[in-house]
Amino acid sequence: MSSSPVERGQLQKKQPRPSFFQRINSIRKKTPQTIPSDNSAQSETENNSGQGNRTFFSTIGNFVGFSLESIPGSNTPEMKAIELCKSIGWDNVSFFQLIEYINELRLSKTMLSFNPRINSYENISSFIKHYFSNDCVAAILRQFTTLQEPSVCINNGNECFGIAIIHALMSCPPFIKYVGQKQPETEIDHIIRRIVAQYLVNWHSIYITDLVSALQFEKDSREDAEEFFRRLSYAFFNSDFGKINCTKKLVCQRCNMCTLTRDENTRLMLSCNQKYTTTIQEVIKFSAREQLVERKCYVCEYPYAKIKYLYELPNVLCFSLASLWTGSSLNFIGITKNPDFSPFETEQPTESNKYRLGGVVYFRGAADERNNHYFAEVLYSTTDPKEIYLADDQRDIVRIESLSQQITEKPYFLVYYKK
Ligand SMILES: [Zn+2]
Repeated sequence: MSSSPVERGQLQKKQPRPSFFQRINSIRKKTPQTIPSDNSAQSETENNSGQGNRTFFSTIGNFVGFSLESIPGSNTPEMKAIELCKSIGWDNVSFFQLIEYINELRLSKTMLSFNPRINSYENISSFIKHYFSNDCVAAILRQFTTLQEPSVCINNGNECFGIAIIHALMSCPPFIKYVGQKQPETEIDHIIRRIVAQYLVNWHSIYITDLVSALQFEKDSREDAEEFFRRLSYAFFNSDFGKINCTKKLVCQRCNMCTLTRDENTRLMLSCNQKYTTTIQEVIKFSAREQLVERKCYVCEYPYAKIKYLYELPNVLCFSLASLWTGSSLNFIGITKNPDFSPFETEQPTESNKYRLGGVVYFRGAADERNNHYFAEVLYSTTDPKEIYLADDQRDIVRIESLSQQITEKPYFLVYYKK
C-alpha cells in the first residue's frame, strides 16, 4: 500500500473515517489475491488443535479474510492485530474486529509453534498477558456475552481440581454476566476476567495456572475441587453473588416458642434416606423436611423442638455432594437437570423455583492418590434437551449422549443456575 501519512490525513479531513469493513473492502478491491492462499492453512491449524468441530472462528476468519496483511507497517500477525485495535481503540472495536484480532494471534509464531505437550504455560504466559491485556479483555467481555460450548483448558500439572470447577461455572450464563459486570479491582479479578475472555473467544490454549497460584494453592499439590471453589468464591464473589444464606427455625413442641438464627454465606445441609440410589430432587425434598431434634426450650424447658432450615438461594447455586457419599451405601445419585429447590426456600412451597444444571464435577479416586482425578460434564445450548460435553483435561472436549453412569467416578460438586 502506498498512501503516505499526509495523504491519509487529508482523506480523514474530507470524510469521516471509513469503517473497518469499508477499509477491508477497499483493500480487497485493490488486491483481491491477498485472501485465499492461507485460508486452508488456517482451518487446518484449527482442526489440528484437537478441539473437534470448531468451524465458527475459521468461517468468520474466511469471511473477514487476511486483510490485515495489507495494513502498512504490520509484519507479523500479532503486530497487525495490535495495529488494528490500536487504530480503532479498544473501546470501539466490534465483535468481528475482535474475531479478526484473535485469528491473527492464533497465526503468530509463538502460538503456531506452541505445543502444550512439550511447552508449559511459562513459555507463553507473557504472550497471553500482553495480547489479552486488560483493555482487550474488557472489549471481549463487552462484545461476547454467551457461550455455545466449552473451550479446552490445559492442565499445567495437577490443576484438574480447579479446571473442573471452572468448566462447570463457565456453563452458567449468570456467571459469565457477573464476570462481565463486576468492576475489576484485584489481581484475582483480572486473572478471572482474562480466563473468561479467552473462553469466550474459544482461545485454544487456556491455562488457569495464574488463578491456582493467586488462590494460594501450592504448585503440584493435590487439592480438593470444593476447596478451590470456596477460595474462589471468597476472593471473587461479592455479597450478592453465589452466596447461600440460611435461617434456622426452631419451634418448641410444647409452648411453640420460635427461635430464628441466621447464617450468612453457608452451605446446603444435604441428607438422604435412600439406601443405594437417589436423585437430587429426592435429596432436596428429604433435606428440606422439618425434623424433630433434642433441643431444650429456654422458656418452658421442654427438651424437643422441630427444626427447619430455610435458605435464600443465589442465581448460581453451587454445592458439594461429599456429605451424601461419606459413610453411606449409596452407589448412584441421579442428577436432576431441572430440580425444584422451593422446598428449601419456603415453608409451604407455592410456586416452583426451578434451576437448570450447568455442570457436574466428578471425582475419580485411584488406589494411588496421585492418580486421583477431577473432570466435569457441562451442559450448553439454548434449546432443550441441552448438549452435554465431557470436559476432561486428560482428553479433548467431546459431546456425550448422557451424564456419566458413575461406574468409576462419583458426582462430587454441582453447579446450577437460574436465569
Ligand atoms: Zn417451650
